[in-house]
Amino acid sequence: MSEILFEKIALIGIGLIGSSLARVIRREGLTNHLAISTRSQATLDEARALHLGDSYCLDPRDAVHDADLVIISVPVGSSGAVAEQIAPALKPGAIVSDVGSTKASVIAQMQPHMPDHVHFIPGHPIAGTEKSGPAAGFAELFQGRWCILTPLPGTDQAAVERLGRFWEACGSRLDTMDPNHHDKVLAIVSHLPHIIAYNIVGTADDLETVTQSEVIKYSASGFRDFTRLAASDPVMWRDICLHNKDAILEMLARFSEDLASLQRAIRWGDGDKLFEMFTHTRDVRRSIIEAGQEVDLPDFGRQAATKN
Ligand code: NAP
Repeated sequence: MSEILFEKIALIGIGLIGSSLARVIRREGLTNHLAISTRSQATLDEARALHLGDSYCLDPRDAVHDADLVIISVPVGSSGAVAEQIAPALKPGAIVSDVGSTKASVIAQMQPHMPDHVHFIPGHPIAGTEKSGPAAGFAELFQGRWCILTPLPGTDQAAVERLGRFWEACGSRLDTMDPNHHDKVLAIVSHLPHIIAYNIVGTADDLETVTQSEVIKYSASGFRDFTRLAASDPVMWRDICLHNKDAILEMLARFSEDLASLQRAIRWGDGDKLFEMFTHTRDVRRSIIEAGQEVDLPDFGRQAATKN
């Protein structure tokens, strides 16, 4: 059963992730006051119209004033500037966290601004869609999904446990990880697939022998799945590429090597090798379904999952 976990929570950034948090915080009654701050008046007005919080402000310092938990949900390249802005207004003892898709860079940007009297605990919910903005969020987004915390050495364990309880109350399963390890894992399971999707959709669009209308008209499900990933927010993905550069380049190098080996198998008609590889990858998908991280439906259950 849920309870008030923090007297006041401040959400800085109220897009897909921030607004999903706002919805689940309200649904579960996790705070007495939910303060919302975002950069633009238009997004703030949208959040207010959706009744996502109890108070709304453009200046994040007003939102974090007296807040016991602050969660920053902005593109990773902006987390340092936000940290610098809110630092003087943070309440002693407050927990400050984020949801950024890269961790080492966010820590490098935010930590220098964090006063000693707060608990800075970076985090990343492994949950999302290709949509952005306050209207795109939904309370069930984190249900059954992992949230990875990457606490720094010496962080107060009680604060880490308190933040963990919060994410569990939002429906998440919890894990902790070293930030650099997180960045490598995410480079392979999330960043590389998005980069491949951006690339393949771009290639199809550039092909001179196949018109764009044919690409759209005959788009098979394989290509359609890539277009879903390639429709993800360009600012967010630009920042992820810039801020997880080393791990992404390492994974891209591995990927290129394996692709060359696949290319060779096709060129030499090595059916056994192709069959062996495709059988193995099928097992990987089965394991993901068995782990409850995917459903075995043609649309991956997304119609149901992304409804408000
Ligand atoms: P989003 O829907 O595009 O919302 C972004 C929010 O950040 C908006 O409130 C926006 O404010 C604000 N913002 C944008 N640029 C800013 C800047 N330069 N300074 C201050 N605020 C700024 O993004 P999102 O999908 O919620 O992603 C937020 C974070 O969650 C990112 O770090 C991303 O890596 C991480 N994440 C995303 C997913 C996903 O699938 N989307 C999954 C896990 C983690 P205005 O609208 O007022 O400009």
